[in-house]
Amino acid sequence: MAPAMNSTTETLRFQAEASEVLGLMIHSLYRHPEVFLRELVSNASDALDKRRFEALTSPELAASEGEARIRIELDAAQRTLSVLDGGVGMSREELVSNLGTIARSGTKAFLAELRKAESSTAPELIGQFGVGFYSSFLVAERVEVVSRRAGSDESWRWSSDGRGEFTLEPAERAEAGTSVVLHLKPDEPQSEDSGEHVDWLDEGSVRNVVKRYSDFVAWPIELGGKVQNAQKPLWTRSKDEIKPEEYAEFYKLIAHDWKDPALTVHFKAEGTSEYTALLFVPSEKPFDMFERGEPRSRIALYVKRVLIVQDCEDLLPPWLRFVRGLVDASDLPLNVSRDVLQSTPLVRQIKKRLTRRVVDELARLLAEKRAEFETLFAHFGSVLKEGIYAGEDEDKKLAKLLLFDSTREEGRTTLAEYVARMHKEQKAIYYLAGNEKSVLESSPHLESYKKRELEVLLMSDPVDEWLLSRLSEFDGKPLQAVDRGAHEIASDSEKQAAEDLARGQRALLTSIEEQLTQDVSEARFSTRLCDSPALLVGDPGGISPQMARVLKAANQPVPEQKRALELNPDHALVKRLMDAYAKDPKAAGVGDLVELLHGQALLAEGSPLADPAKFAKLLSRMVVGTSQ
Ligand code: ADP
Ligand code: MG
Repeated sequence: MAPAMNSTTETLRFQAEASEVLGLMIHSLYRHPEVFLRELVSNASDALDKRRFEALTSPELAASEGEARIRIELDAAQRTLSVLDGGVGMSREELVSNLGTIARSGTKAFLAELRKAESSTAPELIGQFGVGFYSSFLVAERVEVVSRRAGSDESWRWSSDGRGEFTLEPAERAEAGTSVVLHLKPDEPQSEDSGEHVDWLDEGSVRNVVKRYSDFVAWPIELGGKVQNAQKPLWTRSKDEIKPEEYAEFYKLIAHDWKDPALTVHFKAEGTSEYTALLFVPSEKPFDMFERGEPRSRIALYVKRVLIVQDCEDLLPPWLRFVRGLVDASDLPLNVSRDVLQSTPLVRQIKKRLTRRVVDELARLLAEKRAEFETLFAHFGSVLKEGIYAGEDEDKKLAKLLLFDSTREEGRTTLAEYVARMHKEQKAIYYLAGNEKSVLESSPHLESYKKRELEVLLMSDPVDEWLLSRLSEFDGKPLQAVDRGAHEIASDSEKQAAEDLARGQRALLTSIEEQLTQDVSEARFSTRLCDSPALLVGDPGGISPQMARVLKAANQPVPEQKRALELNPDHALVKRLMDAYAKDPKAAGVGDLVELLHGQALLAEGSPLADPAKFAKLLSRMVVGTSQ
């Protein structure tokens, strides 16, 4: 960084995270340098939108016809490319906070993700994050921003080589707005997208890059003294005239994504109220989707093509917060305040309709392009489930979209598909919920179901437990946890046999109950087991042990849960216990066997042991066979 040129120049440092994003971005995007132009044009357009919005209430801030445009200027002698706009501009403080920091709450998570990514996927990651202004440093060795805030008579120059510091000094700018001047690097990086070297000082080359998305920009873009774009926003055009590539380019522009959207929904509502909606479902999960404080919605609200709210929360429910896009309504007042929006009947009506459309389109994708839907569900399924948890699935359309793993081998299943495969005499939809699919798959609870070829859903998404507290039935069939309540699939003779045996072994069962009284409500003989010696069964209305741990970790009250220990009378270990007890109820070996059976029942379901070291000692003692 050059030393301060004069006494009014101040040197400041980038926020640490901003520096890091900058470094990683240059590393990741060097083959896609043309990104910078899209970002600068989109910033200029945002700034013009903001100025127009402010002028609604302060007409003196309005831009003149000549100002309300974006200009791209090339200067071969100086080796500069500049993007100029007559937008809202930035004050000194805004230059510092907007260009010197990365204020997004997801930044930390994003950086962690980026550091561990393969270099081949890094560009996609960084594309999703939206590098914005910093992408200028892909092609520039120094960037100068001269800006004047609308309504102020001060101008400031911000300047940086992107290496950790920037300078600020007073400047001259005749009108409100911003000029971004890129001093181009001597060796411009090759573009992989076009497969060509773009000469950023050549008007024709730059025009080709601008053309790709400029028509989506609502403000005139001038290059070489000529306006390049039709300024007809994409959503105002008729659906059948728009090519899929145009939708995709538009999506990439508004979402800063690299990939095509997974789903595009474009429709016009006519009649009592008129509006157009253009919505996209991304093909991947954005980083900030689960961050607190992030916008709950990414839908922009326009009124007659004027941007009113960038991230309007009132147009879609939070469980569709992964949807990007916009609504352009003609029947709202231009100066509608953000607080009023929520209570406006028209806005509520739009929200209802948008929600229905998105859910219907998802259902269609599920029916017609299963593989694509499955990918999408892997990214956004957990968020969709929030809709059911929030009780917003009155017409049961969301429940039909859910996909679950199951004990049936091939792929994931919907509830409807499960129901279609149910045995004639099967009364319930069986499921087992827990943390990890692999643990669930080998759970002893599944043994009797496998033997009878009854399918069990394996629910390992952490939100499934919440979901199940709302979703108690589907298509008239109750959902039933296989690790809780009575074992209804056992035959009467099996139940009778277990009871008869229990009568004979009452003393043993009672002594087990006494020994394990802290954790176990009852000891009994099981009809559920084929191969394993023991398992733990909860109350019908109880929560799973995993859920109990989640609640505990979150400092929530956990209902006291003792579960029943069920023993497999045909297992050698249980037989040995019965023999040992018959010989000498007081023998130390009896207590050890009970401890062992209880401990391994916990391990088999993925629960931690209360005292693992003690259990380890017990195991060695039993294997070596010295019981004292
Ligand atoms: P984003 O546009 O996603 O917010 P950027 O890195 O592109 O991120 O820009 C950061 C911020 O800098 C913008 O939000 C805006 O406040 C400000 N900014 C950038 N370019 C301009 C401009 N031409 N006019 C006014 N403000 C701008
Ligand atoms: Mg931007």
